[in-house]
Amino acid sequence: MPAAFDGRILNFIGGELREPLSREYLDCENPATGEIYAQVPDSGAEDLEVAVSAAHDAAAGWRDLGAERRATIMHKLADLIEARLEEFALAESVDNGKPLSLARAVDIPRSISNIRFFADLGKSFRGQEYTSEKSFSYTLRQPFGVVATISPWNLPLLLFSWKLAPALAAGNCVIAKPSEVTPMTAFLLSKLANEAGFPAGVLNVIHGRGPRIGAAITAHPRIPAVSFTGGTATGRSIYQGAAGLLKKVSLELGGKNPTIVFDDAHHDLSLQGAKMAGFTNQGQICLCGSRILVQQDVYDRFRDEFVAQVKQFSIADPLEETTMMGAMVSKAHMEKVLGYIDLAVQEGGKILTGGQRRVLAGRCANGYFIEPTVIEGLRADCRTNQEEIFGPVVTLMPFKDEEDAIAIANSTQYGLAASIWTENPERARRVAARIDSGIIWVNCWNMRDLRTPFGGMKNSGVGREGGLHAMEFFTEVKTVCQPAA
Ligand code: NDP
Repeated sequence: MPAAFDGRILNFIGGELREPLSREYLDCENPATGEIYAQVPDSGAEDLEVAVSAAHDAAAGWRDLGAERRATIMHKLADLIEARLEEFALAESVDNGKPLSLARAVDIPRSISNIRFFADLGKSFRGQEYTSEKSFSYTLRQPFGVVATISPWNLPLLLFSWKLAPALAAGNCVIAKPSEVTPMTAFLLSKLANEAGFPAGVLNVIHGRGPRIGAAITAHPRIPAVSFTGGTATGRSIYQGAAGLLKKVSLELGGKNPTIVFDDAHHDLSLQGAKMAGFTNQGQICLCGSRILVQQDVYDRFRDEFVAQVKQFSIADPLEETTMMGAMVSKAHMEKVLGYIDLAVQEGGKILTGGQRRVLAGRCANGYFIEPTVIEGLRADCRTNQEEIFGPVVTLMPFKDEEDAIAIANSTQYGLAASIWTENPERARRVAARIDSGIIWVNCWNMRDLRTPFGGMKNSGVGREGGLHAMEFFTEVKTVCQPAA
């Protein structure tokens, strides 16, 4: 861990690192070893009250500072994180169990990009003008003042910054709650806020459990907007909680995403893509392709080579450079995923590889590792193929033709993402138009342009993040209308 770290994470409120008022803490576990290595505040409504006051006190100053000066401070924060990239990557890996190489190559660099991207977007973000014969109207985009973000454990800093950055760039003061399961990099970021130049109260990070501090945030009358990423059940309860106060809510929720491989797909690229989509971050990404649909005439060949390649994955200590799969985020989550593998067998599935907890030798002997698991022989409508497992578990299903693929792809309550693998551009367009998902990749997976809308249909979410969509969410729009000159 970072040299200066004394084992205790603190809240960052009003420009100061603070203990929770109750002095109550929770344990942070390293899931690769099972060891407790830190404590995180178990904050309550009383801590939130202090943060909300500090944020409101700072709101007018941050708004009036202007987008250019806000961007300078945000870029400085990005610079400071970049200078500590290795420290952040190590902290993310220890906290979450993901391979250090992944945190170093993806999580932390993408977090830095999020901050820089929205800092710059804030400078050009403005309202619109409408002229008619009778009237001239223009819109003003104005920050709420104080907003909250609640983010999950799977991509801790990436999703934390994905919400924080547009909220700040739009001129809001923020109360940010990372997952209590993976609080470390949000804490490290908060320790850099003063050096970056954020005025006290603009950026507040409160740690603690969702049902306690998360619910208090949702219920707080002086926080008019909440941006949430997490599970669908939690999202639903936040939506209900926010309804009484008519809060603005953005919800990015779960997925059960199809990877659709047609018989005219590039064989090697589709294999590679299906592996990445299935198992990156131990399958703990909302965008992971956990249902692999393969056209029946290429099914056997695809299955055999896919399984052979998955068997080659190195499951090992996340700190080793060659590790492809690290630990699951927690014991409870590992057990949930193993429970789903049992369910798949009960439902008639055949495990082609994996299916077990993997016990490693040495330092990680007590870690929470699961073998990458491939299952076939299940109906599209069984629970294994309908519920989000959020682990290194994929199913293979053959399909007949385009109609069949579309029907299976659309057969769940979710609609977050899909990838289509075909060398026929017309087919790609036809199928993309008919899949009920907010994001469709053609011959790629998880490729992102930060300007594009991000989010899901059906039970995968409400609203869109990304680019101007995020800036719009974090602002109120006001129309000013006057007679034409
Ligand atoms: P959870 O829904 O359990 O938690 C997400 C966040 O909400 C955490 O910070 C959690 O706190 C907090 N929380 C929990 N209960 C409440 C509550 N009652 N009120 C307010 N906040 C609460 O999700 P996970 O952390 O388990 O993350 C995995 C889920 O996130 C998966 O379903 C995944 O699909 C989804 N996800 C969606 C993405 C998208 O963009 N659509 C992207 C990434 C993940 P704590 O952890 O401290 O309990």
